[in-house]
Amino acid sequence: MNTHNLMLIDPHIHMTSRTTDDYERMQKAGIVAIIEPAFWLGQPRTEAGSFKDYFSSLVGWERFRASQFGIKHYCTIGLNSKEANNEALAEQVMELLPLFVCKEGVVGVGEIGYDDQTPTEDKYFRAQLELAKEVNMPVQVHTPHRDKKAGTIKSMEVCLEHGIAPDMVVIDHNNEETVKDVLDRGFWAAFTIYPNSKMGNERMVEIVKQYGSERIIVNSSADWGVSDPLSVPKTASLMLERGISIEDVRKVCYQNALDSFGKSGQMHESDWLKGTQVDQREKFSDNSVLRGGQTPVVGEVKATDSLDSNIVR
Ligand SMILES: [Zn+2]
Repeated sequence: MNTHNLMLIDPHIHMTSRTTDDYERMQKAGIVAIIEPAFWLGQPRTEAGSFKDYFSSLVGWERFRASQFGIKHYCTIGLNSKEANNEALAEQVMELLPLFVCKEGVVGVGEIGYDDQTPTEDKYFRAQLELAKEVNMPVQVHTPHRDKKAGTIKSMEVCLEHGIAPDMVVIDHNNEETVKDVLDRGFWAAFTIYPNSKMGNERMVEIVKQYGSERIIVNSSADWGVSDPLSVPKTASLMLERGISIEDVRKVCYQNALDSFGKSGQMHESDWLKGTQVDQREKFSDNSVLRGGQTPVVGEVKATDSLDSNIVR
């Protein structure tokens, strides 16, 4: 994998479900910053307190954990579409959101949108768009995996209906079927590179060849399922190998993520340009990422290139 030492951002990754090895490999591959959207955990939560602690960990422990490996961690806060269907719980979560959306390191309301496109999902999507508007924050929209095209168009129409400017909205999990509609309407179009299925990075190369690099964003959406936290660097590498200019690669794997979520005022290039100093002697709530006898890394972390295949199919 050769990314010509480009700085990269993965603007959609669920690090809560990943290991410290992933952080190390991501940092070595050039990832300087990540955004972790609030999402569901594989099984439904039964108490609002579980959401509260989860949101707290996104702005607290996980941010600390990333810092221990030289990566800047940001997050988006929201009620995911799947769990929005539990109306009694959703009402309580809606009351928690304002306490979190303005915390340090929160760069948007997300990931929100539709899963099964039910009336209840619609209700809480709209309520959260109102919240985003009130606090003037970007919105990260999860588009449904079933009936994707209709769900994507509906998501955008609802944003516009609520008076949200398209350049404040990142429409996520696009594919060849949805990209044109999203770009034509002026929204940011994010693509998730999944291993084995759906959007592989060879398809991503073709999309950038066809549509260029304006408002297109690449992410991994790596989580507790089969996924690849190195999707962004692997895609950057493959794009360069397939003749896409370094300037275009820099836009889709770095700059566009910064320009969109930077509108929150919470994410600045200077956050990582001033150096990726780590101090693994530090603790958070009395906890360290190190285990007995390990020598803490203190100082600059340097990116090196030593990873295998750069194709994600
Ligand atoms: Zn996600």
